[in-house]
Amino acid sequence: MTVVLEEKIEAIFRQVIARNPGEEEFHQAVKEVLETLGPVLVKYPEFAHQKIIERVCEPERQIIFRVPWQDDKGEVHINRGFRVEFNSAIGPYKGGLRFHPSVYLGIIKFLGFEQLFKNALTGMPIGGGKGGSDFDPKGKSDNEIMRFCQSFMTELYRHLGEHTDVPAGDVGVGGRELGFLFGQYKRITNRYESGVLTGKGIGWGGSLVRKEATGYGAVYFVREMLKVRKNSVEGKTCVVSGSGNVAIYTMEKLQQLGAKVVACSDSNGIIVHEKGIDLDLIKRLKEVERRRISDYATHHKDAKYIAGGNIWEVPCQIAMPSATQNEINGKDAMTLVKNGCIAVGEGANMPTTPEGVKVFLDAKIAYGPGKAANAGGVATSALEMQQNASRDSWTFEYTDKKLDDIMTRIHSTTYETAEAFGLEGNYVAGANMLSFIKVAQAMVPLGLI
Ligand code: GLU
Repeated sequence: MTVVLEEKIEAIFRQVIARNPGEEEFHQAVKEVLETLGPVLVKYPEFAHQKIIERVCEPERQIIFRVPWQDDKGEVHINRGFRVEFNSAIGPYKGGLRFHPSVYLGIIKFLGFEQLFKNALTGMPIGGGKGGSDFDPKGKSDNEIMRFCQSFMTELYRHLGEHTDVPAGDVGVGGRELGFLFGQYKRITNRYESGVLTGKGIGWGGSLVRKEATGYGAVYFVREMLKVRKNSVEGKTCVVSGSGNVAIYTMEKLQQLGAKVVACSDSNGIIVHEKGIDLDLIKRLKEVERRRISDYATHHKDAKYIAGGNIWEVPCQIAMPSATQNEINGKDAMTLVKNGCIAVGEGANMPTTPEGVKVFLDAKIAYGPGKAANAGGVATSALEMQQNASRDSWTFEYTDKKLDDIMTRIHSTTYETAEAFGLEGNYVAGANMLSFIKVAQAMVPLGLI
């Protein structure tokens, strides 16, 4: 890459920092993409002339709103709601809603930025957006969750539409929350507009496999990475961080493919079960009873619960971070590599810090970044939108096969892109370059948007 070009990209990045002060996660996500774009601008100089990088770093629209709600005791609470509509060159804004106390504009922007490129990789007609709130669903009653969701949607509905902006779930937003959100949308608009939300329940417009899709898809991606290396998932020892929706179905698919999952976690601690995690129990604790995983050890005396433990210290061959951003730092990455880890598939968004990514790339292990590896969730959301548009519903097998085909294609196209730019095996560069090219090639013909 020429020095002039490097300086140009560096200047754009400095401008992003200046325009979005204090939004560290957003800076991190932008930096990671920009660092890989030099060779793309050499090949497509028109992208530089058209200022595509500058344009994609600026969301098309950012909405911030007040969400007042009352708890069961009648006390009033005020939270902040967000929807960042990043880019709609390829299709309507698409991306989940996150309810977590850590949420602020910088988190939503990083997630929206990642989402734009992830969605482009799926090859489906969806743009990028993300939203959420600093509301903490932990410990709230069903009625409190309902009142919050109704208040949140009372503002958000005016910005949504099946051809405009289509939210789904993310951390803290699952089937229960989506139900309350959809119910309120339907009530306010007087429209049964199935395609306005994805991740819906099976009885009211949802798609089979959507619940499993992010986890299953991440494992399909790892399977493909290992195939290139003449290896497979079967018989491998795995560690999966988290115990939410993504983690549960990552563990399920790993087990189906003959791997052994020996550890999972929540924000309080980790469970290590050398015999293999009992997934039915995790599902019951998390999906039905909404409990913490510390309860797991009371059911299995040979399992260990370590409060505050570091899951990356548990030796494994396949690591699948499926909890949250920046959960693997440089030191954790070194520990994983030293303990014999050969593959990392990211179910969470940006779970590895830049130092950690460098360790994985230098060690040349199979490293599948979230943008590519966890795209199965949103891809299946797009399949849900297809079913809604045609008023159809597909079988589990048919939908799962489509998901598998999409993940296999994301793998091969990101691999080939990296190879074509002389960076064989580097899925970070492949995913960033390919998705940027797709977004840019959709933006240019639409004029100055
Ligand atoms: N929140 C998920 C993601 O990070 C899914 C988004 C969607 O289905 O729209 O990709």
